[in-house]
Amino acid sequence: MSKKKGNIEVQSENIFDIIKRFLYSDQEIFLRELVSNAVDAISKLQTLSRKGEFEGKIDQPLVEVKLDEKNKTLTIVDNGIGMTEDEVRKYLNQIAVSGAKEFMSKYKDSNIIGNFGLGFYSSFMVADKVEVNTKSYKKGSEPVLWSCEGTPETVITKGTKKEHGTEITLHISEDSKEFLQKSRIEGLLNKYDKFLPVKIKFGTKTITEYEGEGDDRKEIKKEVDNIINEMEPIWVKNPADLKDEDYISFYNYLYPMSHPPMFWIHLNIDYPFNLRGVLYFPKLTNSLELEKNKIQLYSNQVYVTDEVKDIVPEFLTLLHGVIDSPDIPLNVSRSYLQSDSNVRKITGYITKKVAEKLNDLFVDERTSFEEKWEDISLFVKYGMITDEKFYKKAIKFFLLKSIDNKYFTLEEYKEKFKVNQTNKDGKMVILYTNHQDAHAHKVSLAKERGYDVVVFDHPIDNHAMQQLETKEEGIQFARIDSDTLDNLIEKDEQLDSALSEKEQEKVKELFQEVIADGKGTLMLKPMSVNEPPVTIIRPESLRRMQEMQMMQSAGGMDFDFYNVVVNSNHPLIAKVLKKRGDNKKAFAKYLYDLALLSHGMLKGDAMTDFINNSIEFLGSDK
Ligand code: ADP
Repeated sequence: MSKKKGNIEVQSENIFDIIKRFLYSDQEIFLRELVSNAVDAISKLQTLSRKGEFEGKIDQPLVEVKLDEKNKTLTIVDNGIGMTEDEVRKYLNQIAVSGAKEFMSKYKDSNIIGNFGLGFYSSFMVADKVEVNTKSYKKGSEPVLWSCEGTPETVITKGTKKEHGTEITLHISEDSKEFLQKSRIEGLLNKYDKFLPVKIKFGTKTITEYEGEGDDRKEIKKEVDNIINEMEPIWVKNPADLKDEDYISFYNYLYPMSHPPMFWIHLNIDYPFNLRGVLYFPKLTNSLELEKNKIQLYSNQVYVTDEVKDIVPEFLTLLHGVIDSPDIPLNVSRSYLQSDSNVRKITGYITKKVAEKLNDLFVDERTSFEEKWEDISLFVKYGMITDEKFYKKAIKFFLLKSIDNKYFTLEEYKEKFKVNQTNKDGKMVILYTNHQDAHAHKVSLAKERGYDVVVFDHPIDNHAMQQLETKEEGIQFARIDSDTLDNLIEKDEQLDSALSEKEQEKVKELFQEVIADGKGTLMLKPMSVNEPPVTIIRPESLRRMQEMQMMQSAGGMDFDFYNVVVNSNHPLIAKVLKKRGDNKKAFAKYLYDLALLSHGMLKGDAMTDFINNSIEFLGSDK
């Protein structure tokens, strides 16, 4: 074959300059692209051989990555199908370029990085010159050598390969010297190619073996191939062949030093799209682990990214593990991904599987499900808030945790407490506390009335309650301190005041003076005698609204407000009026302080004063 010149068809711009300029920040993907091509070339030959279209002998399939620091080259060798001269022209001069050009025209202005299949031409990000030495599997094919020095001009001459396959040599440019470091290349192979289905070899390594017994035991050092990958990762295996230990050890491999997962789901579907994977439910230990251990996305066992926000619904990003799907388009933008019908189907499928798994656990192993509830509730609530379909499934296993550690589904809870806790408008009121210590007194009073109290103490709970109130008819949530006991679950009774109008005015005046330093607003109400003389309340809807605002504005603002409710029917209030001179106010203040104390609001100097006053009170005969 004589030396022939070819031309890469480029219109106005020089594609190599563009490649270098725009893809600078993600140079490293060139190796992933070239190794993937090599694996594809081998898979294609295997397919042909299975179909009887390739009669030659098929060697041990192998992709080899070789580094030559002295000559500044990196070479990727495969024993796949190879290319004929025509194919080289077609695939490398035309198709590959048009792919690269299309990519460029799409993404020039966006700053997406990674996740694309620029393919073969990404090698020019790191190389001044690329040589492709190839021989097709087809009978009688001549070896071909294609070379290109980063200009639109390519040279095709006779190659040197004896066997079918392709050898791609990159002459690494001065700017990209890092890719001549063994550790850098090994790092990349481990990152992207750890689970490829064809053996990937990178140099050799020394292993130590022992021979003989006792005194004759000899240590033998051996040089063996350094194989990067595990060809059959857990997610491509049949779930029936796997044990719990296999899943746990894979988790440990993915996320070393993390807490073991609680349970997992093996995803496996071929139609209407192709998806494999293992998703783990992590034990919620600290948010650092949650954020660090991300779901990894693979495409045909090639690592793509751990930024999966646009592929799985956001609440599922709380899970860990691996998703592998060749059907997720990787070379497109985010807005496209969200509207892509495959991606939507995949999202729907994963959501469904996750809900089913939780439901199975709930139905089959209720006790263990309850034990895990603390760890999975955040996830379930997040899902219910953000995903309509998930909500519908999850409402069946969503649990309310009552203050004495019993768990109920909403249905069960309604069944049990509805009679006692339905208000005059026919709504069932679910009482909750976010702070058992601070609300202890109020909770005990509620229990005396036969009310139950549940625990809702996570910032997400406000949203979860709001969602439940909107979706489920006839329920409403009220924090235990949001009203007086009489009013928390409003019944029809109206109480008369034991005090005259004039006395009521006096009480108001007095307490107004007493609470003047605080932020509370005074209210006087005739209430039952088993209500405390003075109570602090924070009306539910206003409080919830402000808490949500606070969450959005990341805190900072002080929204604390409350009402101070004086029970005009309590005998101690009548007693206040009977006190003389300064004692009137001192007594009222004492009752107010008790209310603050029972809500955990008496602090610092106020606490010190209260203690000193109490000691004085106890010692005096007034
Ligand atoms: P893609 O792999 O997305 O098709 P590339 O730019 O990576 O795009 O490669 C273009 C084409 O060149 C491939 O489709 C394939 O036909 C051919 N090719 C690339 N690398 C090899 C290889 N190692 N062996 C055989 N053919 C190859």
